[in-house]
Amino acid sequence: MNAIFNFLKKYALIIVIAFSIGAFAGYKALESLDVQALTNATPVPEGLITDKDAFFEILPEGKVLTQKKLTSVDKKAKNIILLIGDGMSISQISSYRLLKGGPNARLSFDKFPISGIVLTHSEDAIVTDSASSATAYSTGKKTNNGVLGLDKDKKFLENLTEKIYKYGFVSSLISTSDITHATPAAFAAHVDSRSKTDDISKQMMESNVMVILGGGRHLFLPEKVGGKRKDGIDLLQEVRSSHTLLTTIDDLDDFDFIDNTKVIGLFADEHLRDIEKPDNHSLEPSLSDMLAFAIKRSLQFNEDGCKGFFIMAEGSQVDWAGHANNINYLKKEMQDFDEAVQNALDYAKESQDTLVVVTADHETGGLLIEPASLTNYTAPEVKFSFNTGIGYGSHTGVPVPVYAYGPGSENFTGTLDNTDVYHAMIEALDLGSQSGSCFQ
Ligand SMILES: [Zn+2]
Repeated sequence: MNAIFNFLKKYALIIVIAFSIGAFAGYKALESLDVQALTNATPVPEGLITDKDAFFEILPEGKVLTQKKLTSVDKKAKNIILLIGDGMSISQISSYRLLKGGPNARLSFDKFPISGIVLTHSEDAIVTDSASSATAYSTGKKTNNGVLGLDKDKKFLENLTEKIYKYGFVSSLISTSDITHATPAAFAAHVDSRSKTDDISKQMMESNVMVILGGGRHLFLPEKVGGKRKDGIDLLQEVRSSHTLLTTIDDLDDFDFIDNTKVIGLFADEHLRDIEKPDNHSLEPSLSDMLAFAIKRSLQFNEDGCKGFFIMAEGSQVDWAGHANNINYLKKEMQDFDEAVQNALDYAKESQDTLVVVTADHETGGLLIEPASLTNYTAPEVKFSFNTGIGYGSHTGVPVPVYAYGPGSENFTGTLDNTDVYHAMIEALDLGSQSGSCFQ
């Protein structure tokens, strides 16, 4: 007995270490078996990421939102170009910068003298959708997710294009998705659900917006002729009689600028650059092409007596790339948006009378830039990962950046609520007296 005790005493440390290693190895083997068994039994549900540290917290009672005190703008803007990268926060911009030319590359965004941070929550959710966020930008009021141009009680909210029309301004809306999508729709329509595309397209057509460019021909055609309208109305026919309808980039290039009609350009059945419709791509304009057209058209209206113009141009599919968790898609869409932003900035620098505001409605995908290896930060590869869902991501509640250049840009600094962006745009404009439409 003593001999055994002495043996144990002498080799205690070795025994403990050996036991620990054995136990750890056994635990790891069991763990991998368990995980394997679990994975086989219940596959990881789509839309969930299970291997991250998550905390579910009840937030403190919400305070009432107070409007940010703005600096009164002395040198007013004649025109505003608002560019919205749907689903684009700092991580989307940073990823594009890295993919385009490494960490020292500079994008259009980096050339703005003024930048700030925008909080994006909606009336009823910390994580907004595009409809409520775009309504905040178009009306200066919070609303519920999914709602366009109405408040949480479904009361009508006058939007920016309607307001400035009464002061003699002209507006254009541009999108690379269906033109009835939430962001452009918030500047021309008033519906309690963004899915009511029959109503949205009709309201957009009947609105005071003089130039509407994007995709979505099917939203103007009834189902019986291959469209998506449930109400059976051939709105495309109505557009042909009330507007100039453009359907290809050649129509855009060949447009007779003497013509004084409203313009609707529908360059694809659904969204632009649809991967399922490659034959149509060569007929479609880029965001920059559409922006150049809208600027040229608006300047013509200014010459003919309008006080100024407002253009909203959306890089719609940055958001879809985030939902799809697809970095190559994101790169392509960011490139298109970056080009349009650069063109807007170039125009504003040349004209010196135009405020350019670049922002986003929310972040999409929980995009992270990580080292490729946790033990080797200097490895040549960089890991881009989407962190809101496997296969199909969601929006997140992180703030988005805002960049501004030109008269009135001084208010787009510090932290703004998304509703403040509207008020800062209105403060920037030289509205003058309510002179009525410049088209009568
Ligand atoms: Zn969005």
